[in-house]
Amino acid sequence: MTRPRRYLRPTSVAEAVGLLADLGPAARPVAGGTDLVVALRRGEAAPEALVDLTGIPELRALAEEGGAVRVGACVTHARLAADPLVGSRVPLLALAARVVGSAQIRNLGTLGGNVVNASVAADTPPALAALGAAAEIAGPGGVRRVPLGDLVTGPGRTALGHAEILTALIVPLPGPHGAAFEKVGRRWAVSIARLSVAVAADPARGWARISLGGVFPSPRRIPGAETALARGFDPASAEEAGRAAEEAVRAVSGGRPSMAYKLPVVRGLVARTALEAAARARGGGS
Ligand SMILES: Cc1cc2nc3c(=O)[nH]c(=O)nc-3n(C[C@H](O)[C@H](O)[C@H](O)COP(=O)(O)OP(=O)(O)OC[C@H]3O[C@@H](n4cnc5c(N)ncnc54)[C@H](O)[C@@H]3O)c2cc1C
Repeated sequence: MTRPRRYLRPTSVAEAVGLLADLGPAARPVAGGTDLVVALRRGEAAPEALVDLTGIPELRALAEEGGAVRVGACVTHARLAADPLVGSRVPLLALAARVVGSAQIRNLGTLGGNVVNASVAADTPPALAALGAAAEIAGPGGVRRVPLGDLVTGPGRTALGHAEILTALIVPLPGPHGAAFEKVGRRWAVSIARLSVAVAADPARGWARISLGGVFPSPRRIPGAETALARGFDPASAEEAGRAAEEAVRAVSGGRPSMAYKLPVVRGLVARTALEAAARARGGGS
């Protein structure tokens, strides 16, 4: 491992962006370090300087703002999992945060780090995709907002430009609904997802949002499955949603060797998770 020679801890977004712009590609932003430190140890990254973003109050803020929940990029998974606003208004995000790693990882790991690391197996991006989240990005050219799908462009790849940092995820409030999140891993605890299913649904108002992790190069919703479920929110429509999800995955990733196992699991898990979200909505939320 090549140790970074400089460790910098800015206290504002402008200072962080300025440092990254001045230092160039030799500098890397770091938040909880749970992905980056592993990469440093493996020799997969060797920045000369680390710019620690966790001392910037704006990036740790979490609040309701103009019909959305604004989650600062440095909000940890532990906080998301326990936050009353997130739990009551966008419970899908809390459910996803609860299954990240272990208590130690959830205490350090951040929502922004999970998104920017852009692993196909990450837990929060499917929930964010289902909820239609946008990413707020700050850089030398100012602040811009893009849909999550335009930020994460593929496995390990994002559209962040030179000296840009992710400042927040903006999650529009969908109104009362039920949520369910299921993750399939190799073992029960501290497991990276082989695949995951995120569902938010409101049978009373006839809408469903369904997204999958671990099977697409970047997070995305599955409109065919959402339409199928919204036809009745009953076991038959849930089965149909499962089949639609299976077809969507086959069309994009069907050639991968793991698909012989994953495709039937996608079908069954989408059907089960969809019914769970619908039942929670009918029972007064999740
Ligand atoms: C043992 C273990 C178990 C894990 N289990 C899970 C799991 O179950 N589910 C899961 O999804 N993940 C898991 N992870 C991965 C990791 O914990 C998460 O991805 C975490 O959310 C990363 O956040 P972080 O703040 O630690 O990111 P960091 O390690 O600090 O950063 C990750 C990457 O994002 C960049 N970055 C961070 N913040 C920003 C920002 N605001 N703007 C621009 N760039 C930024 C960094 O430069 C780096 O490239 C696990 C990791 C370990 C070590």
